[in-house]
Amino acid sequence: MKTKLTPQELKELSLLLKQDEENLQQLNEYGVLDVIRTRAYLIEAEFKKLSVESKQLKQDIVMQLARKYNISVSSIEVVVYSKHINKKCNCNTCGSKVTKYKYRKNAGICDDCKST
Ligand SMILES: [Zn+2]
Repeated sequence: MKTKLTPQELKELSLLLKQDEENLQQLNEYGVLDVIRTRAYLIEAEFKKLSVESKQLKQDIVMQLARKYNISVSSIEVVVYSKHINKKCNCNTCGSKVTKYKYRKNAGICDDCKST
């Protein structure tokens, strides 16, 4: 994953946050922006927008974003699904909290229990 935001990403961010693009560019240059979180924010916003505006399947939107941001489909899924579903569930094996998305994906157990 790139360590700095691209000019296109900065432009989209400035529109989303209603912030001056030049300021964001400077912050990006200084390396003080949290690139991963910022990119997650952009991906989530774009996913929401496309879900409303386009008639594409959610999975197609995920694929499209994965290509655009050049990151894996599963990374996109973590961003767009785990954030949407804030409700937590408890792991059936150890009782620790897991996101609803993970809960469904892993058939009711957390990552730790799944890997053991
Ligand atoms: Zn567990």
